[in-house]
Amino acid sequence: MDSSLLKTLLREKEQKKIRAEITAENFKNEIYKKNKKLQEIDDTLNSIALSKIHNILQNNNKDLSFDFETKILDLKKEKQKILFLLGIKETDFEPHYECSICKDTGYITNSYESTICNCIKQKLFDLEYNKSNINNLEKENFGTFRTDLYSDKIDEKKYNANISPQTNILNIKEIAENFISNFDYPEEKNLLFTGNTGLGKTFLSNCIAKELLDKGKTVLYQTSSIMLDTIIDYRFGKENISKELYQNLFDVDLLIIDDLGTECMNSMKFTELFNIINTRLLNQNSHITKTIISTNLSLQNLFSTYDERIVSRLIGSYNICRFFGEDIRLKKSAT
Ligand SMILES: [Zn+2]
Repeated sequence: MDSSLLKTLLREKEQKKIRAEITAENFKNEIYKKNKKLQEIDDTLNSIALSKIHNILQNNNKDLSFDFETKILDLKKEKQKILFLLGIKETDFEPHYECSICKDTGYITNSYESTICNCIKQKLFDLEYNKSNINNLEKENFGTFRTDLYSDKIDEKKYNANISPQTNILNIKEIAENFISNFDYPEEKNLLFTGNTGLGKTFLSNCIAKELLDKGKTVLYQTSSIMLDTIIDYRFGKENISKELYQNLFDVDLLIIDDLGTECMNSMKFTELFNIINTRLLNQNSHITKTIISTNLSLQNLFSTYDERIVSRLIGSYNICRFFGEDIRLKKSAT
C-alpha cells in the first residue's frame, strides 16, 4: 500500500468529517436561533442529567428517579412536537458522513485494535487497480440493466438451450441478486460467467460490484492476464509490486477476474491461479471472500484449457451462468 497515498486519503476523509460536522452544527444553530424553546428544553434535559448523576453519586436515587424519568419523557415529547411542526427529524441535526461505518475517520476501532475502514481500502483499490473499470459503475448498474435487449425467441439449435436468451438472462439476474443478498453466507456459491463477448458479462459484474460497494464491501477488478502478470512480477521480486498489493487479491471481499482465457498460460500461472481461487474459497479467518470469474471460453474449452484442480473448484463452488444470445451492444446502439 502506498503510504503517502494512504495519508492523502485519510487527510481528505478528515476534511470531509470536519465539513459534515460544521454543516450539521450550522443547521442546528439556525433552527435553534429561530426556536428558542428548543434550546431551553436541551438545557433543562442537560441539567436533569447532571442532577441524576449527582443523585447516583450521593446514593440517593429512590423516589426522585421516577420524577426524573417522567420529566425527561415530557420534555422529549415537547421537543419532538416542535420539530415535527418544523418538518425536521432529530437525526437531521446529526452530521451526514460519507461513510456511516467509520463516520469519516477512516478507522474502525474496537477494544483490541484499530483497522483501516473499507471506504479507505476501496479508494486505494480504485486508484491502484480499478482505474479503468470502476468509472463505469455510474452507468452500469441494475437500474440500467436492459433484459429486454435479449431475444424472447427460443432457438434450441442455435443456442443449445430450451429457453430464450431473455428467460436465461432473467434467471442469471436472479442468481446475481441472490449472490448479493447472501454474500455473507459461506454456503452462497461464487459466480462463473461464460459466453461470447457482448452478452453483458462485464456489465452484470459491474452491477454486482456497485451493489456490494454500496453495502460497504471492498471490490477489486482485474483482468485475468494483468492479475497473473502482477503476481508473477511479485514472485520475481519486481520493486513496483508490494506485498500488500499481492495480499489484496486474497483479502478483498469481492474479486472480479475478468476475461479468463485471454492470458498466455504457463504452469507457474496455473499454480498461482489455483492458489487464488482455492485460498479465496477457504474463507480464512472467518472473513467471507467471494469471486466472480468471467470468460469468453465455452465450458468445454475452459475445462480443456485449465488444470483439473482448477476445473473441479469451479464446478464445485461456483454457480455457472452461461450467457447466450446476440451481441446486445449492437442492439443498444440501435435503440
Ligand atoms: Zn469508512
